[in-house]
Amino acid sequence: MENSTAVIHQETAYQNDRELADGNRWEETIAHEVFHHWFGNIVTTESWSNLTINESFANYSEYLWLEYKYGRDKADQHAYNDMTGYINSGSEQKKLVRHHYANKEDMFDAVSYNKGGRILHMMRDYIGDSAFKKSLNHFLKTYQHKPVEATQLRLSFEEVTGLDLNWFFNQWYYGSGHPKMTFRYVLDDAAGKAQVIVNQTQKEQHVFRLPIKVDVYYGDKKTRFLRWINKRTDTLTFDYTMRPTLINPDPERVLLAEITDNKSEEQMIEQWKHGGTFLNRREAIAFFAKNTMPEIAKGLTDKFAGIRLFALQQIEKTPYKDDQAVISTIEGMAASDPDKNVQAEALKYLAKFKKEKHLPLFTKYVTDVSYSVAGAALKGVYGINKTAAIPLAKQHAGDARGLLGSVVTEILLESGTEADFDEIATIYRNIPPSEEKLEQTIPYIGFLEKVNDLEKVKRGIDDIAAFRNMIPAEYRVFIDEFFKMQLTKLGNSKGKEIQQYIEQSFK
Ligand SMILES: [Zn+2]
Repeated sequence: MENSTAVIHQETAYQNDRELADGNRWEETIAHEVFHHWFGNIVTTESWSNLTINESFANYSEYLWLEYKYGRDKADQHAYNDMTGYINSGSEQKKLVRHHYANKEDMFDAVSYNKGGRILHMMRDYIGDSAFKKSLNHFLKTYQHKPVEATQLRLSFEEVTGLDLNWFFNQWYYGSGHPKMTFRYVLDDAAGKAQVIVNQTQKEQHVFRLPIKVDVYYGDKKTRFLRWINKRTDTLTFDYTMRPTLINPDPERVLLAEITDNKSEEQMIEQWKHGGTFLNRREAIAFFAKNTMPEIAKGLTDKFAGIRLFALQQIEKTPYKDDQAVISTIEGMAASDPDKNVQAEALKYLAKFKKEKHLPLFTKYVTDVSYSVAGAALKGVYGINKTAAIPLAKQHAGDARGLLGSVVTEILLESGTEADFDEIATIYRNIPPSEEKLEQTIPYIGFLEKVNDLEKVKRGIDDIAAFRNMIPAEYRVFIDEFFKMQLTKLGNSKGKEIQQYIEQSFK
């Protein structure tokens, strides 16, 4: 929450060194709340209808921070996840500026935040970095300490750029939805003409007007064109004397759109090699996986951790998954990838094969500083040698969060017997109240089903009730449903006495 000069964060913002080894998961939120000091506090939305004035900028600050601190790939990955979040939210009917909503809380959604941020990203790309920054400065200075609407934002952009931006605001701020497009490519060597045929397939009546850059490639040399899409079906034409090796529309992947591309295998290989940005590479990896192409293995050595991780997940679905060269690359990643999340993913990958020869590798990394790496390694040990894994799980139970936490709990609960009740109950009790604890409650209840001593079962129920009572009353409405569902099964298996005890404890 962005209170002026005193931002409030929740307790999950506190992360220990081991959690931070996996990356600071709170970093984007910190950037977001700090940015609100300008967008939200110095200028403030005039009404909930215009909430995007606050939230789209705070959302976009996450991109700006990641781009500044870690580079374009990391920022683009974040933008892609945000766009996917908006698309999956089913908000196509909602306008960015909305005057009709049932509750003001409804405005705090993937449209005001994610979509708003992506719209600013398109604006920045359209008018350029320098004009974008000047416009924000103009907006903040002109309207400081005043309530504002999206219209004032348009006026600032127009004042700085000299452009008429009504079309942009009418379409993106006061209109709803987003374009769904297909790209088809036609190359006519005889006529020396390349065509990109763009079809807008969204059901809504309106057709989107979009400025679109197109890169035309000859090997690694490219020429960039700026064109406009105005019609439901539009054809972008490029003359050539030598056949282009790749035509790449929207090369920076800035458009807020769902696109079905129809590139050939050869063109996708070119896109992988020369496309450059995160999404160009990610799309290529997804394509190689879907079309069972050996090029997928190239993703494992990409410079960006997000692509290496994605390639690991994708290659598993292909026949190359146990290819000797692939496995030896992944063994290298499991031992020394510079990114802990990728290293953990590589260890998880190898763990599925349950090969004795990987036991020393897994054993070595159980003590890694990263909870993800340690958890994946322990899972690897458990798959090969349960007897060795159980004491390791006990040994690390005192300091186990994230993946290590869930693997330790899984091992102890699965292997634990009634005799281990005290030890296991202590582990559960010591997990601080968190979403993680909520997740661990399910296997804990599963363990209680194995316990015959009803007094112990009751103590287990006490632990769960104590956790539940720490949750503020307004959230309990949702959480109680979850507890009730999980505990009903336990009650049924233990009989009337326990059923009544559960009833009493969760009044
Ligand atoms: Zn915010």
